Amino acid sequence: MRAVGVLGGTFDPVHIGHILLARSILERLPLDEIVMIPAGDPPHKQRRPDMAPVEDRWTMVCQAARCITGFSVSRVEMDRKGKSFTVETLARLKREHPDWVLHLLIGEDNIGQIDSWQDPAGILSMCTVVAGTRTERGCAQAGRSRFEDRIVRVSTPVFEVSSTEIRQRIKAGLSIRYLVPEAVESHIRRRGLYTGSAKMLT
Ligand code: ATP
Repeated sequence: MRAVGVLGGTFDPVHIGHILLARSILERLPLDEIVMIPAGDPPHKQRRPDMAPVEDRWTMVCQAARCITGFSVSRVEMDRKGKSFTVETLARLKREHPDWVLHLLIGEDNIGQIDSWQDPAGILSMCTVVAGTRTERGCAQAGRSRFEDRIVRVSTPVFEVSSTEIRQRIKAGLSIRYLVPEAVESHIRRRGLYTGSAKMLT
């Protein structure tokens, strides 16, 4: 059997916070592998006009995962039509990889959203939900879930960055160096993603 951590997200764009979350949990549980899964059509997010095309988000996730031992990527959500529901993704991974013991990795800020996901009980029957937290007990802003007792908390480093902040910095013409992997920064620059009319600083 293989202990696999699944990190789903919009990754618009992928950033160092995502990587630190997954790598810390990989080391600390430990897990054998992390699979990063970009959402095709994320159910909890509004479509924004400046959202990067799905193939750009895919390329950036591949660039981020490529250099990290134990990381891989999957197109399972991108290649499926309609909303990217986690419960369907996990069911498919289980069918295709019966030897995988699934762990769904989330940031602490997502704990309060679990109850509104499609079929949370189904999700918990297929995997262990692991939340990266600032302390073993979690922080006050984490939000509550009725599945609280079944969530495993792993202390992970705090790196306060979000994709929203990255997009805002690009629009404001500010540097994103050290907030995203170098290859991702180059891709954003080359493709002119998120810029509006701003010129990105190095
Ligand atoms: P946005 O700002 O567009 O909402 P985001 O930065 O939160 O995006 P997502 O792709 O929505 O990124 O997040 C995927 C997962 O990564 C979620 O479980 C989220 O909690 C977690 N995450 C995002 N940023 C961090 C961070 N800085 N540290 C730890 N976990 C994070």
